[in-house]
Amino acid sequence: MMSETAISMRVDIADKRLLRTFSYIDGKWCAAESGETIAVSDPANGSRLGDIASMSAAESAGAIDAAQLAFPAWAGLLPQKRAAILRCWFDLIQHHAEDLARIMVLEQGKPLSEARGEIEYAASFVEYYAEESKRPNIEGVTSHLPDAEVELWREPLGVVALITPWNFPCAMLTRKAAAALAAGCTVVSHPSSETPLSALALAELAERAGVPAGVFNVVTGHASVIVKPWTKDARVRALSFTGSTEIGRLLYRQSADTVKRLIMELGGHAPVIVFKDADLDRAVEETIKAKFATSGQDCLGANRIFVDRAVYDAFCAKFTKMAQSLSIGFGMDDPDIGPLMNEKAVRKQEEHVADALTKGARLACGGKRHALGPLFYEPTVLVDVSADAAIMHEETFGPVAPITPFDSEEEVIERANATEYGLVAYLHSQDPRRIFRLSRALQFGMVAVNRTKVTGAPIPFGGTKQSGLGREGARLGMEEFTEIKYVCRDWA
Ligand code: NAP
Repeated sequence: MMSETAISMRVDIADKRLLRTFSYIDGKWCAAESGETIAVSDPANGSRLGDIASMSAAESAGAIDAAQLAFPAWAGLLPQKRAAILRCWFDLIQHHAEDLARIMVLEQGKPLSEARGEIEYAASFVEYYAEESKRPNIEGVTSHLPDAEVELWREPLGVVALITPWNFPCAMLTRKAAAALAAGCTVVSHPSSETPLSALALAELAERAGVPAGVFNVVTGHASVIVKPWTKDARVRALSFTGSTEIGRLLYRQSADTVKRLIMELGGHAPVIVFKDADLDRAVEETIKAKFATSGQDCLGANRIFVDRAVYDAFCAKFTKMAQSLSIGFGMDDPDIGPLMNEKAVRKQEEHVADALTKGARLACGGKRHALGPLFYEPTVLVDVSADAAIMHEETFGPVAPITPFDSEEEVIERANATEYGLVAYLHSQDPRRIFRLSRALQFGMVAVNRTKVTGAPIPFGGTKQSGLGREGARLGMEEFTEIKYVCRDWA
């Protein structure tokens, strides 16, 4: 029998049993029968951290069997029993928060304090849904028929598939899984192959918390191999995906034949709009956060910065100065900016910068890789970026900030909305009437006014247009994993 390979860590992990490399299926830690593995590396220096199991399509389908078998008992548990198990998972995540943060830094590269923040954020969904699972309520309906009584029930969908990205490897999984488990669904999940160790550590803690075998499965391997059987299998009643719009479209098509419920958190192209009546220092500080958090690899990342011409020069000067002061380094040293995830991500920065410069933009700072290593890219500011530059239309997903002036409210609303994306928009102004008008006019699922941080377990996170379908977080996030049944009883 194969045993799990060791993960080589440059930092101390107190509980080494969190370092799993096999898939977690039906309550067992499984190697691929073929013996195949996928290497996981540290983006800071390219070193190999270890090898995770690369499961086959048949083994992935086996996870559906396990989840299907486990469903009736999990769905039938008293809600307070499910709540107690989720609460125990939350307590364990909190107890092991430092280890989880360190594992994340090593495979994802993000600065340690950001990783700690993500673990807290990830845990908050488990706590929230542990509480919410006791309240799967639904409004009653007064009967419209003589001699008949009507009732509405909220029932769990069944087996659901969850697919998560590498930029928030813990929070994106708990945001989905805690909601689905609280609703009474069972889960098959696939974490990004770039950052599977975080998801496997969460599975280890779920097992310790008493999540029964088959209820929560984490299947590692090549995404297309693992996920295709899930999209094609009618027993999988919903697919919840966070990732690029391109892969979202593919999964949408693949799921059509089995008419699945789809929840999709896709790409973003957030505008930041700074009016001349804004508190300029605060607008600069908040926009720095909106651009450079997670080293720019955030679906909520500022991708187009529109500044009122009256304060344009002052904003650009202050913003550039602050961007130049950001530290770059290895995640464990807790800098402002760490490495990007892979070579493809760095090349995208280079392409967007080169393209903007040929179309008339000026480079205010950065614009190249950093001496620390091939995946480190300097915080970069481009000013006077023209509307036809690729960066004004495509997600950059990195630390490049394009700034452009505007002359009127109508003009900037039109330019901000001129995108296929609609996740979040940031607005800076001190005029309440303007804030009201803009909040209405901006075609985005979330509008942040004079601040950057808007996320949290009690809010419905999600986008409009091609940024996605459905909402995560809040009561709505749990309801996505339920179906309403209408019962009409005749007493005559
Ligand atoms: P991605 O390439 O779309 O990958 C996301 C997930 O899909 C990963 O688990 C990946 O697995 C899997 N995947 C890739 N190809 C697949 C296929 N053919 N079939 C099934 N699954 C497949 O996105 P990413 O580069 O990891 O993440 C960045 C994107 O996510 C950005 O566009 C960002 O805006 C978006 N995002 C959105 C939100 C939100 O809440 N709206 C949050 C975070 C990120 P492998 O890694 O194993 O290939």
